[in-house]
Amino acid sequence: RNISNSGTFKYADLEITTTTNPQEKPAPEKLLFGHHFTDHMLHVDWSMSKGWGKPHIGPLQNISIHPAAKVLHYGAELFEGMKAYKGIDEKIRLFRPMENMKRMNKTAERCALPTFDGTELVKCIKKLISVDADWVPTTQNSSLYIRPTLIGNDPTLGVSLSHNAMLFVILGPVGSYFTTGLDPVTLFADPKYVRAWPGGCGNYKMGSNYAPTVQVQAKAVESNCHQVLWLFGDDHQLTEVGTMNLFMYWTNEQGEDELITHPLDGLVLPGITRSSLIKVAEKWGEFKVTEKPYTMKQVIKALKENRVKEIFGAGTACVVCPVKEILYQGEMLKIPAVGEPKLSMRFYDELTDIQLGKKESEWTELI
Ligand code: PMP
Repeated sequence: RNISNSGTFKYADLEITTTTNPQEKPAPEKLLFGHHFTDHMLHVDWSMSKGWGKPHIGPLQNISIHPAAKVLHYGAELFEGMKAYKGIDEKIRLFRPMENMKRMNKTAERCALPTFDGTELVKCIKKLISVDADWVPTTQNSSLYIRPTLIGNDPTLGVSLSHNAMLFVILGPVGSYFTTGLDPVTLFADPKYVRAWPGGCGNYKMGSNYAPTVQVQAKAVESNCHQVLWLFGDDHQLTEVGTMNLFMYWTNEQGEDELITHPLDGLVLPGITRSSLIKVAEKWGEFKVTEKPYTMKQVIKALKENRVKEIFGAGTACVVCPVKEILYQGEMLKIPAVGEPKLSMRFYDELTDIQLGKKESEWTELI
C-alpha cells in the first residue's frame, strides 16, 4: 500500500451514532458564516499500514490530536467547500458534488495525503445531511455549508509523509457569505502581495494557501476595501478576488463582447462556480468566452475607453459578487455598471434556479 494508491472507505461500512443532546438551531436572520454547526459529523481514519477504516457519523465533537501532529506544524491539511440547498419542492440538493470530490483528491495527492473514491464520500455526505436535514435553512439565500477536511495527524515531527490521516466532514447553516450580500464590493489591489505563483500550490485547496492571506485581507479593510484583488507578475495580471475566481465582461481590443477570466495555469483555484459560469455562457453563445490572462493596464485602458461592462467574483459562497471599485496604485478605479440587466445577475439567477430546483439540470443531485 502506498500514498498514491490509498484504496477507499465504503459507504456500505458506514456506522451511525445519533446525538442524545441536539442543539438549538440559530435564527435564520442571525446566521454568521462558519459560526454554527449541526449536531453530527462524519469521520474516517486512515493509516499507511491499515488503509481506510470504516466511516462513522456521530455527534459533533472536539477531536483529540497529539501535539506533534503534522497538521499542526507543517500544515498537512486540505479542505473543500460546498453547499446543500433546500429547493422550492422542499427537497435537498447538492450542486456538482463530484467536482468537489475530484478537486479534493487532486489536492490530497499534492499534499501527500491519502486519496479515496469520491462517489463513496458523496454517499456518506448525503447520509450525514439527511441525519441533520432539519438544519438545512429554508430562507432565501441560506443554505447548508459542507466542509470536508483531511488532515495528517501522525504523532511525529519531521517534514515527511503522513502515516496517519483523518477525514472529517462538518456542516453548518449559512446565510449570505458577505455582509454586503450582492452589493458591489471595493477591491484592494497591491502587486506587492502575491497569492500564487508558477510551480506553487495556488490551484489546490490546501489550508496553507489561506493563512498568509489573512493579513492582506486585514490591510484591505484598513484601506476601506472589502476584498483583496490578487495580482500576478510584472504586468499585474488579475487572477482572483479574495476566495473567488474573477471575471470581466467587456468589449475587447478587437471590438468583440467578451467574458474573460484567468486560465487554469496553476495560479487560480479551479472553481466549480467558474467552470459552471463558463459552461452556461458557452451554452448561451451570445458572446465570446475566453480563458486568458488580462492585466491592469488593459483594464485601465478599457475603463478610459468605456469598454468595461462588469467585473465580478465567482464562488460557492455567493455565486457572483459584483465589483464597483478597485484601489490600485493610489487611485480608486470606478467600474461602471453598463448594460442592464447585468450579466452577473443573470448568472446568479441561472445558477440559483438550478440549485433550488426551479430549473431541471444534470448539475444537481438529490440527497
Ligand atoms: N478561489 C479560491 C482561492 C477559493 O478558495 C474558492 C472557494 N473554493 C474559489 C476560488 C471558488 O471556488 P468554488 O467556485 O469551487 O467555490
